[in-house]
Amino acid sequence: MGTYMSGLTMKAYAKINLGLDVVRRLENGYHEVKMVMQTVGIADVLTFEKRAEGIVITTDAGELPTDENNLIYKAARLMQERYQMKEGVTVHLEKHIPIAAGMAGGSTDAAATLKGMRELFGLDCTDQELREIGVKIGADVPYCVMGGTALAEGIGEVLTALPAAPDCILVVAKPDINVSTKYVYEHLDAMEGYAHPDIDGMVAAIKEGCLGGVVERLGNVLETVTVEAHPIIDVIKQKMLEMGAEGSLMSGSGPTVFGIFNDRETAEKACAQIAKEQLAKQVFVTSFV
Ligand code: ATP
Repeated sequence: MGTYMSGLTMKAYAKINLGLDVVRRLENGYHEVKMVMQTVGIADVLTFEKRAEGIVITTDAGELPTDENNLIYKAARLMQERYQMKEGVTVHLEKHIPIAAGMAGGSTDAAATLKGMRELFGLDCTDQELREIGVKIGADVPYCVMGGTALAEGIGEVLTALPAAPDCILVVAKPDINVSTKYVYEHLDAMEGYAHPDIDGMVAAIKEGCLGGVVERLGNVLETVTVEAHPIIDVIKQKMLEMGAEGSLMSGSGPTVFGIFNDRETAEKACAQIAKEQLAKQVFVTSFV
């Protein structure tokens, strides 16, 4: 975070799910989940500047809306309403996080906007208040306000901070396919029964600082749906293991796949191989943040 002139720059970090379980479907169509969330070193850059009135969004990501459909707009609007602000804001978004990927790209931009507006206008509000505003935008926004390693329950908004997950190197690969979150949950609902990942065991492993225990318990119930519809997800998972990953998993509702590696050199090789075989258009080597 840094200030220049009347402007302010903030990084909005992506997340992955080390574990994702769906406990049950709720009456209102939402799902009760149990997820282990982890911030990773892939980030969008947002620049905020005051303006006389209104909300103006510019971005280098041509495919994204810049009107009220952008989650940045929704976040800015909610802040203006909540704090009865007369002034407006211009937000420029430099997009680095893969879009519609299961990495909470939009949610983290919204969270950065809540924090950016607080900073830019010197508003007196707590992180807890920002989390409460954030959940109106999306279930993942409160977590994005918090960041780090966390257990997310409820619809994703009931958060328990965890100690930092054990260090490792990650390869993150987003295949060039589109997965609809709605489709994934609907198909999961139609399933008879599915294996639930051991989220409690993973939380214990994180508390013990045991990477092996985390790797052993990597699990995402949504994979059962997405892998069937998009076999490329499993191809990438297997490629990561073949290239030396300790474990690999799909993040969120996909289609992004990540692999956990012990050393950077092996991770770089896996990354290069995935790119070479054109299994994914966007591939990164990164780590937990
Ligand atoms: P999640 O993990 O929360 O499901 P995601 O990574 O699957 O998120 P996003 O990248 O957050 O998906 O965005 C999905 C859709 O939301 C996009 O197709 C886009 O049109 C819309 N959207 C609105 N605002 C943004 C934003 N600031 N960044 C990215 N997408 C946005």
